[in-house]
Amino acid sequence: MLRIYDTRTRQVEEIERARALRMYTCGPTVYRHAHVGNLRSYLLSDLIRRVLERQRVRMVVCQNITDVGHLVDDVDDTGEDKVRMQARAEGRSPAELARHYEDAFRRDTLALNLRPPEHTPRASETIELMIELVAKLIERGHAYAVPDGSVFFDARTFPSYGEISGNRLDDLKPAHRIEAVDPRKRFHADWALWKPAEGELSWDAPWGAGFPGWHLECSAMSLRFLGERVDLHTGGIDLRFPHHEDERAQSDSAAGHEVVKHWVHGEHLLFDGRKMAKSTGNVVLLSDVAEAGLDPLAVRLAFLEHRYRQQMNLTWDTLRAADRTLRRWRTRVAEWSESPSSPMAMPYVERVEAAFDDDLDTPAALRLMRELERDPEVAPGAKFESFLHLDQVLALELSSDIGKAPAALPAGAAELLEQRSRAREARDWDAADRLRDALGELGVRVSDTPGGQSWS
Ligand code: AMP
Ligand code: ZN
Repeated sequence: MLRIYDTRTRQVEEIERARALRMYTCGPTVYRHAHVGNLRSYLLSDLIRRVLERQRVRMVVCQNITDVGHLVDDVDDTGEDKVRMQARAEGRSPAELARHYEDAFRRDTLALNLRPPEHTPRASETIELMIELVAKLIERGHAYAVPDGSVFFDARTFPSYGEISGNRLDDLKPAHRIEAVDPRKRFHADWALWKPAEGELSWDAPWGAGFPGWHLECSAMSLRFLGERVDLHTGGIDLRFPHHEDERAQSDSAAGHEVVKHWVHGEHLLFDGRKMAKSTGNVVLLSDVAEAGLDPLAVRLAFLEHRYRQQMNLTWDTLRAADRTLRRWRTRVAEWSESPSSPMAMPYVERVEAAFDDDLDTPAALRLMRELERDPEVAPGAKFESFLHLDQVLALELSSDIGKAPAALPAGAAELLEQRSRAREARDWDAADRLRDALGELGVRVSDTPGGQSWS
């Protein structure tokens, strides 16, 4: 079974086998295009799913779409709503803007072969669930409404707050803040579950019209779509605090027990040495990769060259190198498919699968596949079967060149191939070698198989 690093327990834990497992993944805020750094976080969830599915586990995944409630400063939970602000800048309605970027996000995830989650609820369409959850938290004494219509979570009613990130309530002193503690709060570390507002992006609630705090939606949606026991919860490392701490406090307080078994976080993607972020100005989109003439799956392969838990620095050179490997592997697989079929190379396949299970050690898995590619002792048919089998997790479309119409031969090459074929029949090996070199100079690679010569 899969073993994976659990941020809360700070150790690698074995995922308990079950017929079905439930996973929640914090989804995108749809006010702009997702950059490839964001997509790296979603690849983590896809890899977990694919590895577990290979072990015959049915995965049920919920990934929310944030189209309301995420404020510009999400650590201090202040500023304007991101969707509202961008809608104004682009001169569209918030709903139109959100649908536009949600569609773009879905196209990107499909291009990266990220399996679609079973549930993708939108925040704006699950407000009732959130209102119910707030009411429950108030009823149980974990939350309180104040006269302006805000509702706050009472952090001190959840003493194990901070276990994921290592922040302790006592240490979350407001001293570093320049502004004074919000007088509406009972305690400085309390956070808003509901914020008063009017007009667009506001909903009626028993304590006044407004909109939900960002952390609330993930609690409400996971409890509704996955239930009170969630096996895995994933997200980027920056979500540990405050987002996941607040989410855990809300969900556990509503359920009366620990809801999420394993919290798993993906490290950041850097570009040219700095965290990829819109604010840093070093954003690369999947469409930029395609425009540069590279296969979008080169991004997936480049990510797999690093473990999810390592920071990774992306450059155009690494993307180009990944693109070359991808093309080479597809060509090889197509070549191997011409050979008699043969059982998988089990010693390799088992080691690759063990690497996947070992906290998603994809770099080790890829190293083993390169070894297998070169191993002269393994029959081409066995390489073919092994690569296709492992591609169920890698999802690099390694079979896509099989049966492709052969590339057109450069001028003069057909004659040289014909001459070489005759030279081989006449057992004139010197001539055959010379012709092979001449073909090589034209960019045609000839290989001899039991069925005659073949070229690529
Ligand atoms: P957002 O749409 O801003 O809510 O972010 C979506 C996801 O991307 C979250 O899980 C973030 O933690 C993650 N994320 C943001 N920046 C990066 C980055 N540079 N590398 C990896 N993940 C990131
Ligand atoms: Zn979330």
